[in-house]
Amino acid sequence: MARKKDRSRLRLLEAETGTIHKEHGDRASVVLIYPNTYHVGMSNLGFQTIYRILNELDGVTCERAFLPETPPSGPKALSSLESGKPVAAFDIIAFSISFENDFPNLLTILEMAHLPLRAVDRDHRHPLVTAGGAVSFLNPEPIADFIDCFFIGEAENLLPPFFDLFSRQDDRKSWLQKSARQLTGLYVPALYKDKYNPDGTFKALESNPNLPERIRRAYVADLAGTRTCSTILTPHTTFDQTFLLEVSRGCPHGCRFCAAGFVYRPPRFRPSKELQDCIQTGKSLSRRIGLVGAAVSDLPGLETLCRDSAGDDTEFSFSSLRADALSDELLAQLKKNKVKTATIAPDAGSERMRACINKGLSEKEILDAAAKLVVNGIPNLKLYFMIGLPTETMQDVDAIIELCKKIKHAFLESSRVKGKIGRITVSLNTFVPKPHTPFQWAAMDEVPVLKKKIKRIKQALNTVPNLNVHADAPRRAYIQALFSRGDRRVADILLLGRDNQWNWAKTFKASVIDPDFYVYRKRGQDEVFPWDFIDHGIKKSFLLAEYKRAEKGKRTKECDPRSCSLCGVCHPRSRP
Ligand code: SF4
Repeated sequence: MARKKDRSRLRLLEAETGTIHKEHGDRASVVLIYPNTYHVGMSNLGFQTIYRILNELDGVTCERAFLPETPPSGPKALSSLESGKPVAAFDIIAFSISFENDFPNLLTILEMAHLPLRAVDRDHRHPLVTAGGAVSFLNPEPIADFIDCFFIGEAENLLPPFFDLFSRQDDRKSWLQKSARQLTGLYVPALYKDKYNPDGTFKALESNPNLPERIRRAYVADLAGTRTCSTILTPHTTFDQTFLLEVSRGCPHGCRFCAAGFVYRPPRFRPSKELQDCIQTGKSLSRRIGLVGAAVSDLPGLETLCRDSAGDDTEFSFSSLRADALSDELLAQLKKNKVKTATIAPDAGSERMRACINKGLSEKEILDAAAKLVVNGIPNLKLYFMIGLPTETMQDVDAIIELCKKIKHAFLESSRVKGKIGRITVSLNTFVPKPHTPFQWAAMDEVPVLKKKIKRIKQALNTVPNLNVHADAPRRAYIQALFSRGDRRVADILLLGRDNQWNWAKTFKASVIDPDFYVYRKRGQDEVFPWDFIDHGIKKSFLLAEYKRAEKGKRTKECDPRSCSLCGVCHPRSRP
């Protein structure tokens, strides 16, 4: 376990697989921080990619820091993994934030670095505190008070010009103003003022003159030439020495709950030649290659890629496979890799609910997939469902139970042929309405209702042999929803949480701001959202139309950038 390894041991382990850190940077020293433990941070491909990009920039050196597994005893400040330099001694602190639930860790880390928490209380004597990652281009507002500038969007094209402009300035404010004017995707919260209506709803984010009213996301139009793969292999990650490789960005299917399917539009695939080259690099380091993307099974030529790139002992794994995309060749690949568990995500139990979320999977396709997997020697199955989706009724909850039983039946029939019965694990995840999705107007289901639904499913499936049910804690989802849908006033809740040692029950009781206002309130159609200032190219009217279609159970076709301009991202002129 990583927690038993001290810093020098971790460095040694990483050195064996090639760390890339440079010793000196005359332009800037950066400490890249993942606001969670080493084990979690090093499992994140985005974090690893930014580490490589920064160290490849001329004159820039980048080290890493993580949340310690156990709080340090005594007053010693948080320091970097590579050189042990205090975090506060770097020119720049760059947070990479993938999950809203890590917001409290951000405050903990700033405190452990002995830095003032609010940006307004820091100046040129402190490091510039920046943040990027998926959360920053969904809704950075709840942590806007703590950050000097955010990288909004895909950072590959934003980081080089940012460091071209960067200088160790005395007048930080003017430098930030100049950079915010010049760089697409750079958001400086202090240059914008949040305004509210008398009823407490958000009114506007007012910008300083000469600044864009909306921040256009940075975006990589063509994935050719941008390598996103593991930089360092370490056994102390979820993927244990697996060489990870991003095959695609975005997803063509448009599931209405999924932020990745909207903010990364249009779907893009990395060219085969480049993937093959990355796989060759990966094979020189590990026999395990993990293909990553929201839509791995949509990659054109996936089967050929695996077949042509595989050596005798190369094992491929896939971060996502759709039940309707299990071709014979792909199944043969899974079998060859001796895959023990495959995942199917029906997400909802009833056909009605799957139409509402635009899942586009029929019950027959799900049952066929389960049977095919078993016949091809994959003994265990993991099923993902969401509960608390908009318009969900108890009939829809019961449909999850029925579908699980049917899958179990199909699974059993096919298992008998093989003479071996595997396990089914049902994973229940609470729906959180996410910014920039058609469900951004929806309310989250109340925690007691969610608990009741979980209990109902667990009780009904408890007696089914070889089947387990796992559910995440609805209270955790409540906090995630608060941070996902919040505005700048939520910063005060975070600070109060820190004062109460992250005891949320105590914090919410003491807070003058009611968290239910953000979590449980269905938003008005004309409501302005705190995250509306981020411009992903998607029309808000399209998202609203999608929400209405969801309520009527109407499906929407998949993305086809060659012929479509439906959501606004693919301008007709930019079509290939
Ligand atoms: S314009 Fe059409 S193809 Fe392009 S991202 Fe939007 S829905 Fe997908």
